[in-house]
Amino acid sequence: MSTALMTCQPAHERHGSAWSYVSPSRLGCWLRCPLAFKFRYIDGIRSPTTPSLFVGKMCHSGLEAFYRHRQLGIALDAEDVAKRMIDGWDETVTEEGMRFETESDEMKAKLKVVDLVAAYLAHVPEDEPRPLAVEATMEAPLIDPFTGEDLGISLLGIVDLVLDEQQGPVIADFKTTARGGTPAEITHEIQLSSYAYLFRQLDGRKEAGLEIRSLIKAKTPRIEFHHYDARSDTHFKRLFGVIREYLDALDSGRFNFRPGWGCSMCDHRDTHCRRWCG
Ligand code: SF4
Repeated sequence: MSTALMTCQPAHERHGSAWSYVSPSRLGCWLRCPLAFKFRYIDGIRSPTTPSLFVGKMCHSGLEAFYRHRQLGIALDAEDVAKRMIDGWDETVTEEGMRFETESDEMKAKLKVVDLVAAYLAHVPEDEPRPLAVEATMEAPLIDPFTGEDLGISLLGIVDLVLDEQQGPVIADFKTTARGGTPAEITHEIQLSSYAYLFRQLDGRKEAGLEIRSLIKAKTPRIEFHHYDARSDTHFKRLFGVIREYLDALDSGRFNFRPGWGCSMCDHRDTHCRRWCG
């Protein structure tokens, strides 16, 4: 895979961080609630890192260490990976401004991370192919594949893993989740289509498929791999339809609230959102 990142010159005047690039997480946030997106990406109001997010971040760091070594032909075992995660724990706590309520909560989180990653390593086949890319920042200009129009902004995503499988490249994303079961494909569609677009732009090949690899935070951690087909023209038409609407919202500065199920988990519910009046 090319390591050079493709960037673009904005076609028209945009300024500020929200206009610097489009990403699957920004699109996902805006789709869930435009007002919550505004608080986060326009007003720069950061939500505190929760223990659950922190566990996910640490699991990602362990899997990144494991696969970066695999790229070099070095096999780390679960103990090696656990040591690396624990060694980097305090630094990440500081970087993220993470606050555990008690020492016991922090210890439980450490054990959870170690157990989840050990379960993952026990699950992957020993002959899993070497990765083509690990925790790779991919950036490419957004050019509508159907009209050739350059949207004047780039798409940026951080792809957890690309494996050189026999049938072709497979793009995988790690998720730490409370429950198992096959996730509805549509809930991950924007992310999967974005990663496929980036991979094709940078590598020149079509992906053979995509995977969500779930690390399930059950009492006894479980691992599930969910496979999805290569993206179709329909997926890319839908993705670009969403991106165009998103860019229109940025340009018009209209970010309405979208009350719904997500409000129960929103940090702005009783503060900024309550004061907002359109
Ligand atoms: S509380 Fe609900 S409507 Fe308000 S910003 Fe959060 S998600 Fe949006």
